[in-house]
Amino acid sequence: KLFNELQELKGNIRVYCRVRPFLRGQGASKTVVEHIGDHGELVVLNPTKPGKDGLRKFKFNKVYSPASTQAEVFSDIKPLVRSVLDGYNVCIFAYGQTGSGKTYTMTGPDGASEEEWGVNYRALNDLFKISQTRKSNIAYEVGVQMVEIYNEQVRDLLSGILSTTQQNGLAVPDASMYPVTSTSDVLELMSIGLQNRAVSYTALNERSSRSHSIVTVHVRGKDLKTGSVLYGNLHLVDLAGSERVDRSEVTGDRLKEAQHINKSLSALGDVIFSLASKSSHVPYRNSKLTQLLQSSLGGRAKTLMFVQLNPDITSYSESMSTLKFAERVS
Ligand code: ADP
Ligand code: MG
Repeated sequence: KLFNELQELKGNIRVYCRVRPFLRGQGASKTVVEHIGDHGELVVLNPTKPGKDGLRKFKFNKVYSPASTQAEVFSDIKPLVRSVLDGYNVCIFAYGQTGSGKTYTMTGPDGASEEEWGVNYRALNDLFKISQTRKSNIAYEVGVQMVEIYNEQVRDLLSGILSTTQQNGLAVPDASMYPVTSTSDVLELMSIGLQNRAVSYTALNERSSRSHSIVTVHVRGKDLKTGSVLYGNLHLVDLAGSERVDRSEVTGDRLKEAQHINKSLSALGDVIFSLASKSSHVPYRNSKLTQLLQSSLGGRAKTLMFVQLNPDITSYSESMSTLKFAERVS
């Protein structure tokens, strides 16, 4: 309760930075991360400017070291996730270059054990469990949608698999919604969505890094005494890789993809920046992503951005542009 009130005072946009560990087989790599503080401080060193001049300091709401676990990350965001049951709309994004750990944070590694589950599994599981055990007059229903946005087109990742539920106030119009009443529902739906996502990639090779994927958890709560109904949505967004693509090196479809990604990520940055700076005009219409999430960005809605970093010195310039994006919206 107190935590929620404190967060409310701080405003509705939070930025958490997560530094991923070096991977096995990456050898004796060097890190750009000089220091991680307990209160969201991050100091990065420019590998070409060793010494004081190469240091750059950032401040976020939180910074996770490479040693942080999935459980730790989720326990920090649990109150935010649960506020959906009180009728809040929440968006959680993972932003960063390809290979920085976006999918690890949101979903987990391939074939994740329960311990390695990312935010998607944990949030879905937590919400349906709480919705069933809460001692109150409110009867909850939890449903899930999964879509991806590729080249400004929305694709339903759960279409026509099982029987859908019809609920009012669909979070993503036209995408199918499935009820979640057990952990096995969670696992089954996630695996179908992931499989559907993967199917189209074999041909296009790693399209997953060039599309945004959105898991939406839709909660409907009915007050059994008064009959009034509340809705809350949680959008869990694994964004396309933020890396700059060298325009001189790509042509055709690849260039078109890169332009769409660029456009949608900067549109997202612009929307969050306008909200953070309390601007009167919020430019939602500039991308499919921000249009789709419009009702869950701004107003009473809450936003959390995970900013993902690959600590390797070879990623220094991408990491700096990621951090500058994050700094602008925080
Ligand atoms: P992205 O989705 O940003 O392209 P991934 O999530 O696929 O990046 O991460 C790249 C690799 O790093 C994967 O093999 C993933 O399992 C691993 N990885 C990322 N973050 C972590 C972490 N916090 N702990 C352990 N391994 C991680
Ligand atoms: Mg990924």
